[in-house]
Amino acid sequence: MNVGVIAVQGDVSEHAEAVRRAAAGHDVAVEVTEIRDAGLVPDCDVLLMPGGESTTISRLLRQEGIDEEIRAHVAAGKPLLATCAGLIVASDDAKDDRVATLDVLDVTVDRNAFGRQADSFEAPLDVTELDEPFHAVFIRAPVIDDVGDGVEVLAEWDGDPVAVRQGPVVATSFHPELTPDSRVHDLALFAGSHADAPAADGGEADA
Ligand code: GLN
Repeated sequence: MNVGVIAVQGDVSEHAEAVRRAAAGHDVAVEVTEIRDAGLVPDCDVLLMPGGESTTISRLLRQEGIDEEIRAHVAAGKPLLATCAGLIVASDDAKDDRVATLDVLDVTVDRNAFGRQADSFEAPLDVTELDEPFHAVFIRAPVIDDVGDGVEVLAEWDGDPVAVRQGPVVATSFHPELTPDSRVHDLALFAGSHADAPAADGGEADA
């Protein structure tokens, strides 16, 4: 399985390790590709979009022409896990013109919503699909204000969605790559048929 990690800003090695751990549980061999340029995403079976600074990430994705390739990846039904700033970039509306959203996830987000109260915090989180709570690390995290009809809420904190799924896209406000627990990577990238059957038609034709 070719795993692409968007690497225009950082937070890459932690995600790569989390994917390797999750993949080991499925006996799936993974090759990790760091994405800084256009032309690599079409060969990826699954994609990860890490946190960082959403304005910077979205600007670099557009500048390099990677934005269209991510849209084609999702349109082809291939899994994408977007975390924190990645969630903001994946959304339909970040309520901030400086973020060029990819519009692959029908949610509205409030950047730094938690940040105004507390810069970062950690909490045990109940996630549907997981038996035990997930230890979630929130760092200047966004809040999801509004979700569209096709969006399933996987976890809430203080009444707001902080993990969602829409088709092949899973997005979290928190940083699942910062703990040794790779269950969120597992449910996003290896759940069900994804484990041994990455989307059959590569996105090349659409890219
Ligand atoms: N709040 C940041 C932003 O708006 C995201 C923070 C993070 O990814 N940890 O981009």
